[in-house]
Amino acid sequence: MIRAVPAFEDNYIWIIGCDTEAADEVVVVDPGDSAPVLEDLSQRGLKLAAILITHHHRDHIGGIAELTQQAPRPEGQAKIPVYGPSNRAIAGITVPVRAGDVVEIGRLNCRLSVIEVPGHTLDHIAYFGFCASSQPVLFCGDTLFAAGCGRLFEGTAQQMWESLQKLAALPPDTAVYCTHEYTQSNLKFATHCKPLNTDMRARRAHVEQLRSEHCMTLPSSIEMELLTNPFLQCADAEEFSVMRKQKDNFRG
Ligand SMILES: [Zn+2]
Repeated sequence: MIRAVPAFEDNYIWIIGCDTEAADEVVVVDPGDSAPVLEDLSQRGLKLAAILITHHHRDHIGGIAELTQQAPRPEGQAKIPVYGPSNRAIAGITVPVRAGDVVEIGRLNCRLSVIEVPGHTLDHIAYFGFCASSQPVLFCGDTLFAAGCGRLFEGTAQQMWESLQKLAALPPDTAVYCTHEYTQSNLKFATHCKPLNTDMRARRAHVEQLRSEHCMTLPSSIEMELLTNPFLQCADAEEFSVMRKQKDNFRG
């Protein structure tokens, strides 16, 4: 019920659907580009009920204007609401949200709470909850990646470490939907940092197999990240800071 539409080089735009009475309605997360989303909606005869934004980077928001103007809307819905961070002015956001707010898209049976996760950017938020399923889901943009994490563009190492700790504390079976297909290169770095970690090595072999077949490596899970993400295993912000700098300069 959650699908990826690829965009640009390595972005995924997540499309949340459901099998309730609103089976032809979807929510789109971080549409950096409108064209692939409009094409997907048109091919499948879907209507866009809402847009969720995690942070202000162009490859996450670039499609907002065209989608809100051109995407088909559910019957009786005058506008497509665009949820996003409240602490920065981002063009196109109509429902600013902050920590603890709950985004409910009723007909889709979607209920997501907002977690503030500064670090990659200062406005970055994540959405955690349930979308017509018993398994919890997390949309975390460029904060937590599979076996990695986002670069520090605006926040401090302390902020990012705390943000990652918040996500690490979510239920282990949470499905993790991040924005980029970086898993393979992240695991090169992870196995370089921790060469004896058998979980990281096993995941790296599996992910290399998937990528050789051009398959997606997402979603991940919190459980898998706790086992194989070296950034979640940092004991404190200082250790995290050192590792993040190593990764910035790593040429695998
Ligand atoms: Zn970003």
